[in-house]
Amino acid sequence: MAEAGVLYKNKVMLLAQTFFIKDNKDELLLCAHKYDYDILFFDQMSDFVRAVEHSDAYHLFVIDLDVLYNMQNDMQQQRRQTMFLSDLLERLPAHHDYVYLQTVRQGERFLLQQKLVDSNCLAYAEKPIANDVLVDKLFNLFSLQKRDESNTLIYLGDQVPLNATLLAQQQVDLIHTQDARTLHVRVKETLPDIVLIDEAQYQHTEALVRVLKKNIEFDPGREIIMLQKNPDAQLARQALDSGFDEIMTLNDEEILTRLLLNRINKIRSSKDLISRDRATGLLNKIGLQRKAQEWIRRANRTETSLAYGVIDIDKFKVINDTWGHYFGDIVIKRLSLLLSSQLGEHDLLSRFGGEEFVVVFWNCSLQQGKEKLDIMRDAFGKVIFEVKPGEHKAFSFSAGVAAYPACKTENDLFLQADAMLYLAKQGGRNQVCMSQ
Ligand code: GH3
Ligand code: MG
Ligand code: MG
Repeated sequence: MAEAGVLYKNKVMLLAQTFFIKDNKDELLLCAHKYDYDILFFDQMSDFVRAVEHSDAYHLFVIDLDVLYNMQNDMQQQRRQTMFLSDLLERLPAHHDYVYLQTVRQGERFLLQQKLVDSNCLAYAEKPIANDVLVDKLFNLFSLQKRDESNTLIYLGDQVPLNATLLAQQQVDLIHTQDARTLHVRVKETLPDIVLIDEAQYQHTEALVRVLKKNIEFDPGREIIMLQKNPDAQLARQALDSGFDEIMTLNDEEILTRLLLNRINKIRSSKDLISRDRATGLLNKIGLQRKAQEWIRRANRTETSLAYGVIDIDKFKVINDTWGHYFGDIVIKRLSLLLSSQLGEHDLLSRFGGEEFVVVFWNCSLQQGKEKLDIMRDAFGKVIFEVKPGEHKAFSFSAGVAAYPACKTENDLFLQADAMLYLAKQGGRNQVCMSQ
């Protein structure tokens, strides 16, 4: 156990019945180790609570609710079960969230379900669940914890009618402007998810929304909302005709803010669906192209250089053929996690295709880009995969790098970096090539 603690940086602590552990332990551990996390098993509540109390963030705590049935059978008293659930929930340290494993029958009981989701519940899963599926879902939870992306809301009007603390808590940047005539410029610069416009501003400058929406690059996912002090059906009708998506009335700042946050979360998840890869949570090709173009425009305005790298895992077909497609997927996920852990705040990372990734380093020369990719390459070479119990392997990738402003467009950057990747493969793999 001590050795494993050094080897795997993330940990799952699992409270489960003895038989569950005995039947599943080896397979669960093997799956988890492939994803670079360890599972510590507990069958005593008190040991589990103590371990949770002493552990840091980035750990996941999983509770198999069958521990309840065990107790209930001991007590021979049906009524006791929910009692014990409350008891269990009460004993869990409150400053952590938990993943609950329950049976379908437990899930059908609404009150139990309600109690559970209201008790520091990060997620719940229904059993039976295959070990590899459980391990994969837990891995996704680890990845989610590390994700942070901010969204933007622009308000055009005199006094901001929103709760700034709530917005900040959910990582929403608020931009306040009072100038209707430059709103379209601010929108182009900051790419907000929501543009909130006070009715007075609209009455003053009726063409506002058309100017925003007729731009060929306008994001159709963005919402333009008019804010009314009091309901006014005629004005609302007129506003809808001129292109507003929604009319909201200002009653209470907190409620308005929360309604807007709900909308932003919906916009966030639909954006994720089209621009992110489901398996790794990284940008997909569409998401990358959109962001990279935005980065290039910004680099152009601010005279910043960019380095653009294409990464491709070496001999991946052999990995698939030898240890199976499922294992191949794990290698992809592990690489994605490693690459994201090495990124700067303004860098981009995309899973471009199967086992190909693209990174864009902000404010970075060609040479520096190569150095960064070499560091990533070294780090990946040190990742040890347990391909079978006791059998360990490491893999490599090759990469090509190009830079802006030597290459002007996203397409040029990709073609140039891809040509360099080809050289790296030709040169024997496990290396990074750049144009001279
Ligand atoms: P090279 O060193 O030249 O890159 O050799 P390679 O075997 O990696 O060759 P290539 O990059 O052309 O092969 C990619 C293979 O990756 C082909 C495809 O079967 C496999 N693949 C693509 N997407 C996925 C995926 O999502 N999961 C898994 N497991 N395999 C994938
Ligand atoms: Mg490839
Ligand atoms: Mg390859």
